[in-house]
Amino acid sequence: MNRPYISVEVVRQVREAAQNRCGYCLSPQFLVMARLEIEHLIPASKGGSSEESNLWLACPICNGYKADKTEAIDPETRESVSLFNPRSQVWTEHFRWIEGGLRVEGLTAI
Ligand SMILES: [Zn+2]
Repeated sequence: MNRPYISVEVVRQVREAAQNRCGYCLSPQFLVMARLEIEHLIPASKGGSSEESNLWLACPICNGYKADKTEAIDPETRESVSLFNPRSQVWTEHFRWIEGGLRVEGLTAI
């Protein structure tokens, strides 16, 4: 599938809104060896638009892991739960840093 076109201006707006850091692990651009990627919160393959409201920044590792998923199975309840949405949810309500900032720990099923 071809990558959808996203204008330079929209990329700039998303980078600014995301404070130039990954929405999932919060790694800032200056600590990530590769360029942070514009990711579709609802994947284009599932009908997600390339409008700014559906885009956020992700590091290649988080973006690759998320891929086209929007939900996953909670290993504790075996129920399907929505994945974290960095545009509409507050990171600190769902995650925290552990091991001196080396790992992210989930606080909720999200
Ligand atoms: Zn990340």
